[in-house]
Amino acid sequence: MTNSIQPIFILPEDTKRSAGRDAQRNNIAAAKAVADAVRTTLGPKGMDKMIVDASGDVVVTNDGVTILKEMNVEHPAARMVVEVAKTQEQVVGDGTTTVVVIAGELLRKAEELLDQNIHPTIIAKGYRAAEDFSQTLLRSHAKAVTLKHSDILRNIVCTAMTGKGAEAHREHFSNLLLNAVTDVANTDLDILDSIKVEKMTGESPLASELVRGVVLDKERAHSSMPRRVENARVVLLDCPLEIKNTEIDAKIQINDPTQLHAFLDREEHLLREMVNVIAQTGATVVFCQRGVDDLVQHFFAKRGIIGVRRVTKSDMERLARATGGHIISSWKELVVGDLGSAGVVRQDKIGNEEMLFVEQCPNPKAVTILVRAGTVHVADEIKRAVEDALGDLRAALHDGFVIAGAGSMEMELSGALRGFARTLQGREQLAVEAYAQALEVIPRTLAENAGLDPIDVLASLRMAHERGNLWAGVNIFTGEVMDAWAAGVLEPLKVKTQALSSATQVAEMILRIDDVIVNAQAGKTLRRSPSSEMDEM
Ligand code: ADP
Ligand code: MG
Repeated sequence: MTNSIQPIFILPEDTKRSAGRDAQRNNIAAAKAVADAVRTTLGPKGMDKMIVDASGDVVVTNDGVTILKEMNVEHPAARMVVEVAKTQEQVVGDGTTTVVVIAGELLRKAEELLDQNIHPTIIAKGYRAAEDFSQTLLRSHAKAVTLKHSDILRNIVCTAMTGKGAEAHREHFSNLLLNAVTDVANTDLDILDSIKVEKMTGESPLASELVRGVVLDKERAHSSMPRRVENARVVLLDCPLEIKNTEIDAKIQINDPTQLHAFLDREEHLLREMVNVIAQTGATVVFCQRGVDDLVQHFFAKRGIIGVRRVTKSDMERLARATGGHIISSWKELVVGDLGSAGVVRQDKIGNEEMLFVEQCPNPKAVTILVRAGTVHVADEIKRAVEDALGDLRAALHDGFVIAGAGSMEMELSGALRGFARTLQGREQLAVEAYAQALEVIPRTLAENAGLDPIDVLASLRMAHERGNLWAGVNIFTGEVMDAWAAGVLEPLKVKTQALSSATQVAEMILRIDDVIVNAQAGKTLRRSPSSEMDEM
């Protein structure tokens, strides 16, 4: 292309294209805008945001990823940053604001280097080296944690909840969460699969409870079934309890009324047999993943059996773990040994919603945290905080390491990176220094959001770290330096390692883009990087 004399148009007329510094500036500005949108929510003193969607629904939240999801971001580079927050949410469950704020700051610092004519690939290389260095250092400072360290785990939960709707009741929630985790800990299953968080309105958050079993947003199939069964014997089926076969469309030709009777009798006979086989095992509650025929519902009701139909697969699996029952795919093969048990199965009206409780299970491997609050918005926000805390507990136990927060690690890394930069030569040194400065955005923002003077705070933090005070972080109430470890501001190591790696990656990726081609019709974007010539076009 560079050799051609005549301009050649290879793209449709209405294609928007920006290249070189323009493209870079644009993308960086968009990524910074995303970071600025969530910055003010970071930390315990961060503010909340109210987002109103097109249909008028309101979300009030302090959670980075929730804000970004609700905001409907359109710019392609900005969307890449939003994706990073989503990844953080999936992998760790917490730290979504942190990762976006760091990514934004890395790009802000990169822009200053670009203005000094430093090539993006050099910046990217320096950032990569700085990240590697930081990861190793983080790991070396982290402390081991297991289920036995209940104080550390409690502090992790409290840290995750500070500044969220759940803060006032964090003691209560940390007890619930710790009991829940202990209940399911002896399984090799992911705790996020074994612990479900359900919300209900009405009552105060203090009425939130741990249900040793499963809470289903469902009703029993028929209103004449009992509302409550004690010492329940639970059957779990993933076959339909009806005769309908939706895959084959059959026609039956009937010539006289006796044939019709015989046919209907046969059907009823089969349905009766289903109920007999199930009831013979001593079952008192039947959960079915598929449909349940009206007649079967009627027979169940007559025998005092609670039947529930169309239970989701994930709820079925949770029920199996909670009750110890097996999910059976053919009712004919059901045997007594497949049944699970629960102390109580009951349907109750909570607010104006009917819910099914399968509780007091003997050795549950699945439990439910029932979050309650006065209004839907509060319940939603508390549920998000509980889920964040749960993600943190999982990350801490899974990875086995914990560090202190309050900006202490970012300051430590920043100082060490400055030392590391001095061992490097040329322009890469500048990139590593920029990375070191960028990490300070976390303590700076924590201070700013708490109404403190960030310059004073950073200066005293730097001094403390130079004196070897590893866990020196911001006391957001007094503005003084505190030992974040002693203060119990603890976070799983994984939150930081994941945030650093994703933030660095996305910054690097955005830096490498020097050409944005937006196809007007499709709204599709092609990206081209300086290193990979035309391969994407
Ligand atoms: P994120 O979405 O990134 O998790 P948060 O709003 O939860 O954002 O804020 C997390 C930050 O707040 C972390 O850097 C954490 O260390 C810090 N933090 C939490 N509790 C405290 C505290 N009591 N004092 C100072 N900093 C805290
Ligand atoms: Mg958090």
